[in-house]
Amino acid sequence: MVVVFLGPPGSGKGTQAERLRDEYGFTHFDTGAALRAEAASGSDFGRRIAAIIEGGNLVPLEVIRELVVRFLAGCDSDRVLFDGFPRNLDQAEVLEAGLAGIGDDLDHAIFLQLSQDALLGRIVNRRICASCGAIYSLVTSPPPGGMCPLDGGELLQRKDDTPEVFTNRLRVYMEQTVPVLDLYRNRGLLREVDGARTVENVTQSILRVVGIDGVGDGA
Ligand code: AMP
Repeated sequence: MVVVFLGPPGSGKGTQAERLRDEYGFTHFDTGAALRAEAASGSDFGRRIAAIIEGGNLVPLEVIRELVVRFLAGCDSDRVLFDGFPRNLDQAEVLEAGLAGIGDDLDHAIFLQLSQDALLGRIVNRRICASCGAIYSLVTSPPPGGMCPLDGGELLQRKDDTPEVFTNRLRVYMEQTVPVLDLYRNRGLLREVDGARTVENVTQSILRVVGIDGVGDGA
């Protein structure tokens, strides 16, 4: 099964992807995390990537193509989840070609919906673990002692999680990613999920639309 998570910045894609990876056996490919790792490497290339991320813009198509092709070549899981990809129509073509190359195709595009006000609130209160990348909210899941409970890592605010950069990320999303939603809607692959509910309820809705038996009473 191949699933992509679509939705504006702050809609909960990363949090839900972690849960599907940890509890439901999905192999998770997070282009943002892969790019942040590259940016942190300190290479010239990494510095160029960091500047693009910190401005809230999309990195060039060829960079994404290389990451995705490499990921697919090394992936033998029968549950695959892309988080933060595809971000525009050209990337949707990269995904289609990449999956065709391994005799597969996309099963579900999950669209996490949330109001713009709620998005900004989530973004400015988000913290990530500097060592394992786990995601926390200062509002709904404040880590005790201000450290990552999984590995004691330092919790940081992403440089692109400011109101100013968020505004540009949202603009990029509206201009470039919304056409991808329309593409998948027209193909009958789009599954709309209300992202404003509890993390657990959203997870249960996602499991239901992709046809996996979850636990708990869900939404
Ligand atoms: P995310 O972690 O998904 O919020 O992504 C953080 C940033 O990484 C984005 O604002 C972009 O600068 C970059 N990025 C992540 N995924 C992609 C992608 N598929 N295409 C281009 N840029 C991306």
